[in-house]
Amino acid sequence: MSYIIALDSGTTSVRAFLYDTERGRFVHRAQQEVENKYPHPGWVEQDADEIWYKAAYVVSDCLRVAGGSVAGMGITNQRETVVAWNAKTGEPICPTIVWQCRRTSAYCASIPKEDAKLIKQKTGLLPDAYFSASKIKWILENVPEAGRLMKEGALRVGTVDTFLIWKLTEGKSFVTDYTNASRTMLFNLFILDWDEELLAYFQIPREILAEPRPSNAKMGEATVFRGRFPITGTVGDQQSALFGQSCCEAGEGKITYGTGLFMLFATGKTPVFSAHGLLTTVAVGRDGSPAYALEGSMFHAGSGVQWLRDEMGLIETASESERLAMQVEDTGGVYFVPAFTGLGAPYWDSDARGLIAGITRGTRKEHIVRAVLESIAYGARDLADCMTRDSKLPLVAVRVDGGASANNFLMQFQADVLGIPVDRPVELESTALGAATLAAQSLGISVSGERATERLFTPSLNRPYFDGLYASYRDAVRRTLLK
Ligand code: ADP
Repeated sequence: MSYIIALDSGTTSVRAFLYDTERGRFVHRAQQEVENKYPHPGWVEQDADEIWYKAAYVVSDCLRVAGGSVAGMGITNQRETVVAWNAKTGEPICPTIVWQCRRTSAYCASIPKEDAKLIKQKTGLLPDAYFSASKIKWILENVPEAGRLMKEGALRVGTVDTFLIWKLTEGKSFVTDYTNASRTMLFNLFILDWDEELLAYFQIPREILAEPRPSNAKMGEATVFRGRFPITGTVGDQQSALFGQSCCEAGEGKITYGTGLFMLFATGKTPVFSAHGLLTTVAVGRDGSPAYALEGSMFHAGSGVQWLRDEMGLIETASESERLAMQVEDTGGVYFVPAFTGLGAPYWDSDARGLIAGITRGTRKEHIVRAVLESIAYGARDLADCMTRDSKLPLVAVRVDGGASANNFLMQFQADVLGIPVDRPVELESTALGAATLAAQSLGISVSGERATERLFTPSLNRPYFDGLYASYRDAVRRTLLK
């Protein structure tokens, strides 16, 4: 019997999943929480050593269950986050700068418009503190050890995939995959390599960065555990979920409903550039070769439900929101805008703040809870409309995953608001499944049968009614915008 391990190094936890390649199913998982630290307002850091020890622990746990017969490993990870370490000792030289960290936002805001245009043409991204480039620049300018190690040729800087592979291969492989590289703002989407002009612009020497390879390339041999096995699939978490949902042809899309909401839409072998504030990113084609996708996200989705539970005390568990929302016919004209930390695409207003509109004397908690769930579906409609306008491809159906996709009310409302079927799979761990599938495919084996639908939510035929609700939501959004 042989197994594939998928290591998923996320923002709040590191997890490993074991798949049985003979029976085509998932057999074991292990998980460890990762601490996020907030040393200053807007800063978010992690300890790279902690990520590594916990990754090693969860992988070891899967190896124990597998009894040594592991054919290969896939890695998927939180994207954009930057780790810097000493090649001689393997020790991190500073805390990791997490994707959510805003420490470089003033610098990014100061990038002139013409330069921003060039950055977008080359990388598909908008200059923002979210992406890795300004985080790497910050380390080079603020961590004294970085300069010293650079002179000795011993500085290594990379995304989480790169760091984990370096550790797993005991320093033999210093590599990254195209999907992770495409989130750094240093990677040229057309030549699929670091862009010399951007490296010079951000004053980042190529030598400190890893070698980019296709997501299905062999990245090296993991030798740090007792048995050795190859790493044959590496992919950023959102692209991994897209691949895990088997969305590879132009026009196929998925929405992940977690703390935030991520919508990715495959555009095939050609990058499509957005006129509506969406991002262009490298994805994975059906055969594992590079492809492209459009990406849009909402900063807050499931976190609105957490807010109802933890700050408002209106629900005790996230899943209770479904029952409450279904106890009322509609929200009674109440609209919620989840702009807790500003609004992303297509509004891009970082100063906007949340709002509950349309309250009357008859408004009950059920209405508010329902409005919070509906706001998630409206946000996805905002993104879907941008995607179809940018790509000129009609969105015919959407696949869903993530914690909040378990909510039946939300999924039905999503189908109604988008006017297309919403397809929820049996296997909701699309992110890990994507990396496992890719790793197995590169080895000429498979980990799972065809993707299976658990439930298909079909849209209501009453389009004008749902379009009307969406128009009222847009009115509420307009009231939050400061720009
Ligand atoms: P992440 O990977 O971002 O940590 P998950 O995919 O684990 O997120 O999803 C967790 C989020 O989903 C939380 O914000 C939680 O409030 C929300 N959530 C979980 N279950 C439900 C549910 N049944 N209905 C609505 N929201 C839910």
